[in-house]
Amino acid sequence: MRKQIAAANWKMNLTYQQAEKLFDELLEEPISLKEGQEAIFAVPFPYLIMAKSEVDEMHGFHIAAQNCNNKKSGAFTGEVSAEMLQSIGINYCIIGHSERREYFGDTNAIIAEKVNICLQHKVTPIFCCGEVLAIREEGTQNAFVQQQLEESLFHLSESDITKIIIAYEPVWAIGTGKTATTAQAQEMHHYIRSVLASKYGDNIADEISILYGGSVKAANANELFAAPDVDGGLVGGASLVATEFLSIIKALK
Ligand code: PEP
Repeated sequence: MRKQIAAANWKMNLTYQQAEKLFDELLEEPISLKEGQEAIFAVPFPYLIMAKSEVDEMHGFHIAAQNCNNKKSGAFTGEVSAEMLQSIGINYCIIGHSERREYFGDTNAIIAEKVNICLQHKVTPIFCCGEVLAIREEGTQNAFVQQQLEESLFHLSESDITKIIIAYEPVWAIGTGKTATTAQAQEMHHYIRSVLASKYGDNIADEISILYGGSVKAANANELFAAPDVDGGLVGGASLVATEFLSIIKALK
């Protein structure tokens, strides 16, 4: 059975003190995740070690980085490598978020390299894909997302592809308050799974968690997560409010 995952993406928000306070609020009451459920917090780099110590003893709770570099090491001032993440016990990393694609030049080819270097260092990539509004309006979103998958993931072996978490995030729904309808999310998730199945077979496609991202909040999480191919969410804004994110975790199947 594939995992059901609530992943928080804090982006470039919160001071260290605010981040500690948010963890205090989140962890005030013990949250017991069901078998196969996970909660992941993608926090800014300087908070990774603190965040890890907050959830270390908690079953199913993990910390993620929000990005890493595509190279192993070297003269890349300001960058963070997958090996560095591994060395501090961080086992998850968001790769190819639309904000990295838009503002920091992440192409499908660079993202493929980031996926590879993460896997080499036992860091699970949370691979983001999704179309901008113009593509959705043109009706070519399936082909667009398929190309993202093919160019960044389809070089992987059968055993490596099952280590990936996919997040479908329509760019027009990120931070806009405009959520994809449950039908739109299910349709794309089902399509992504069929593309994975045509390359790797049904059994492998069925094992891969596909999260939905784009204005997920407490009020819509239950309905979105109930869709058969939606295995949880990658959550930006609403993950900064403890009560919201706790409800989102509780909405997991
Ligand atoms: C995100 O950043 O991945 C995201 C989905 O943001 P929001 O939930 O704010 O739309």
